[in-house]
Amino acid sequence: MDLSRFPRRHYTPGPTPLQPLPRLSKELGATIYIKRDDLLGLTAGGNKTRKLEFLMAEALASGATDIITTGAVQSNHCRLTLAAAVTEGCAAHLLLHERVPGTYSPEAGGNNLLYRLLGAATIEVAPATADLGARMAEMAEELRAAGRTPYIIPGGGSVALGALGYAAAAQEILAQSFAAGLPIDHIVTPSVSGGTHAGLVAGSIGLGASWTITGISADEPAADQEAKVLQLARDAAVLAGIDREIPESAVTVREEFIGPGYSLPSPAMTEAVQLFARTEGILLDPVYSGKAASGLIAMARAGEFDGGTALFLHTGGSPATYHYRSQVLPS
Ligand SMILES: *Cc1c(COP(=O)(O)O)cnc(C)c1O
Repeated sequence: MDLSRFPRRHYTPGPTPLQPLPRLSKELGATIYIKRDDLLGLTAGGNKTRKLEFLMAEALASGATDIITTGAVQSNHCRLTLAAAVTEGCAAHLLLHERVPGTYSPEAGGNNLLYRLLGAATIEVAPATADLGARMAEMAEELRAAGRTPYIIPGGGSVALGALGYAAAAQEILAQSFAAGLPIDHIVTPSVSGGTHAGLVAGSIGLGASWTITGISADEPAADQEAKVLQLARDAAVLAGIDREIPESAVTVREEFIGPGYSLPSPAMTEAVQLFARTEGILLDPVYSGKAASGLIAMARAGEFDGGTALFLHTGGSPATYHYRSQVLPS
């Protein structure tokens, strides 16, 4: 796998830390490391930064003046796309998908506060039933009519080009594991729009890495999520010139940590957020990394890592923690 021929912007000064979690490991009776992608560059970091390095390079090569994207009302992806646009001198237009009616408030904190502070050119709220792709295409048309050059980034940046960011991350993890003489047996990652999980799978196969990868869904049932991630991993592998087939068996998703639904709290999520904070001083978010960590914790307690080394991919999201206060600190 050789990603060097892809144009790429650089938003993080170097690799993110790969660290042991000694106090959490002791608590769980398993060997747990963490990949600190919450420390990636752009405003407040998180996994979308890696996808945006490839997507923004393509946008700029196409002469883009305006970036259009979509996400949930507390979307880390929208915050980071906006941050990338700001640093590249582009205007950003956000289409916020109000999946649960009444959940958007212009006065909300967390990521919503940052949309406004970072100066989004447009914040448009779409109802649950909206066709987001069609609306973004219309927004692009309106901008073109005004003489601008728009570029659309789909939700989560989860297209093959964006997923290359996580094929690159697999390469980074393998290099760190080699340098530290630390073989990694299992990787646990959140899996939602799927680009992170798919890129890791494609990259790991492209590199011949021997770890297993488990995606923890925070939204879709496992079968749907596996189908989506498999397709995206295959598309990313073709784009990256990986000449190995991605087998179905390379994509595993667990659905039992979703709780009552997307962005809704579960007791296991609250426990995970508190446990990471109180053993290691690491902030998770209630929507993605907190649910993924609840999966990691349950797997560790059930002995599923079988004495091996597990790596938790921390995908970020801490700004949302400040919005969902009652979920992480219920009274
Ligand atoms: C978007 C996001 C995820 C999920 O990553 P996908 O590539 O969409 O599956 C996980 N954690 C955080 C904090 C996110 O913002």
